[in-house]
Amino acid sequence: LPETPPGFSVPSHEDVNSFAKTSGENFKFETEVHRVMNIIINSLYKTKDVFLRELISNASDALDKIRFLSLTNSTELESNPDLKITIVADKKTGTLTITDTGVGMTKANLRDNLGTIAKARAACSGTADFMKKLERNSTSSDLIGQFGVGFYSVFLVAESVTVISKHNSDAQYIWESSSENGNTLGRGTQIIIHLKPDSLEFTDDERLRKLVRKHSQFINFPIYLWSIRT
Ligand code: ADP
Ligand code: MG
Repeated sequence: LPETPPGFSVPSHEDVNSFAKTSGENFKFETEVHRVMNIIINSLYKTKDVFLRELISNASDALDKIRFLSLTNSTELESNPDLKITIVADKKTGTLTITDTGVGMTKANLRDNLGTIAKARAACSGTADFMKKLERNSTSSDLIGQFGVGFYSVFLVAESVTVISKHNSDAQYIWESSSENGNTLGRGTQIIIHLKPDSLEFTDDERLRKLVRKHSQFINFPIYLWSIRT
């Protein structure tokens, strides 16, 4: 694995905190989201690695979306014609960063897709029904994907998560806690995971390589894996 992809930098914890303080706007999780996260964390802690499957599948969905949009409007691809997923493991900062050049999220998308359980509510008959189903079947990791709460599985391994996203029809936004000057994307989404001390194994080259292979069998886009050691 080469040292570091060109033009790549992971924001430090100091950057993250300074943004949280200076940014006027705050996206908050719906209260139910905390309960959903707790159920996920308590039931899937033995198979933490599902987080990678969920994030790769989200990246792949986003790439499918931009490719589909480009069929009717080829200019959609101009912001970045290279459709790919890049995973960077950084042992020094204890971060895992997953970047895709997919459709990206607008500001409204970030607020509505990452802080709510709207999709799960819609798939069931309301919040209470969803919570009941999730609690009853919480050991099945398939359920997590099925109800559209896959993103929250990142909290199995993350202390904090930073999402940088750029959609063709909006400016670039940084979700939750993050650096003021995140990496410039052109288009797509970058998920920076600040790993929990007990999940640092996910920066291990071999472990990651095996996992990516396992979870990327049906992904139609190239996945590049980088490892930063120094
Ligand atoms: P699901 O994938 O089943 O909808 P998730 O919890 O995995 O549920 O993701 C929620 C939503 O967040 C997705 O439907 C998508 O709209 C948005 N999203 C998540 N990751 C990405 C990404 N990498 N690029 C663009 N949108 C994303
Ligand atoms: Mg998903």
